[in-house]
Amino acid sequence: MYKLVKKEGLARRGLFETVHGTVQTPAFMNVGTSAAIKGGISSFDLKNELKCQVELCNTYHLHVRPGDKVIKTMGGLHQFMGWDRPILTDSGGFQVFSLAKLRKIKEEGVYFQSHVDGKRIFMGPEESMQIQSNLASTIAMAFDECIENPAPRDYTQRSIERTIRWLVRCKAEMDRLNQLPDTINQHQMLFGINQGSTYDDLRIEHMKEIAKLNLDGYAIGGLAVGEPTEEMYHILDVVEPYMPVDKPRYLMGVGTPANIIEGVYRGVDLFDCVMPSRNARHGHLFTWSGIRNIANAKYETDPNPIDELCDCPVCRNHTRAYLRHLFKSNEMLGMRLAVMHNLYFYNTLMERIRQALDEGNFTAFRERYVPLLSQRI
Ligand SMILES: [Zn+2]
Repeated sequence: MYKLVKKEGLARRGLFETVHGTVQTPAFMNVGTSAAIKGGISSFDLKNELKCQVELCNTYHLHVRPGDKVIKTMGGLHQFMGWDRPILTDSGGFQVFSLAKLRKIKEEGVYFQSHVDGKRIFMGPEESMQIQSNLASTIAMAFDECIENPAPRDYTQRSIERTIRWLVRCKAEMDRLNQLPDTINQHQMLFGINQGSTYDDLRIEHMKEIAKLNLDGYAIGGLAVGEPTEEMYHILDVVEPYMPVDKPRYLMGVGTPANIIEGVYRGVDLFDCVMPSRNARHGHLFTWSGIRNIANAKYETDPNPIDELCDCPVCRNHTRAYLRHLFKSNEMLGMRLAVMHNLYFYNTLMERIRQALDEGNFTAFRERYVPLLSQRI
């Protein structure tokens, strides 16, 4: 259940209630692909130190290994990884379309080979819902086709029509699964995903159709896949008026701190991205004055923390010189500390966005921080 608390322009301050607790929005979901955040971050780190509200896990990866039935036997994903706050699982669609070899799309679903062992797998709307029900996440994502940008118009048209038929099947299957006595989370929610590549009219038409299904939330998919940033913002501007106001809105796979502020400005409530953890593993650290490359020689004897304005456990305890040394000597700890700082930065960014909305000065916040957070220092 989503409650809109306050608006500033299109930006929304809200509360998203789930069976695993209330999410303060706008929020950033921390990506734990295979039920783990890459870089050695545990569930108790996320909860006790890093202010994470929602963790995102990947259905395809968990289906292949350890298998969703193993996770169901272990009591679901929450029990399995020791995390009691909300979890969103993706549908597996994105990985099927980006990782799997020899895929074949049919009306019933997609046939493909596992990227791990080459095993033949079939996944359609019903299978995706069954797997996500076994994982027992808080929010399940609809199974859809992720098409490339740019895609031919006639192909996009056929694809989004099929995506609507798949969405109807996802909803029916989720309703059925939620009524079964041995389902772990009988309140599992389902989000639909808007597609339509970069065609304004197809995006709008698709959004109008999926809004009729009265789902628990709506995502905008198929963006941040290589198109120019301005094009992504344009699609948000075009689709936003057709998104239900009483449901959370999720921009999938986005993005930089500036992208997130611009997304909130355009009415988005939820985000996810591998960027904070992936960039951290390469020594690229987000700070309140810009992006720092900790491997840089100028930090060799620098006694300051990564960011003087950050109060994360890493910045409270360690110097830039120490972090640089850990990276230079390939110590596992360097990666872990860098990921901790970056996730803390992202979760704090969302906290400050919410605070700006509460205080009615988000417009000023955006003007100040969009340029500042994008610069390299
Ligand atoms: Zn820090």
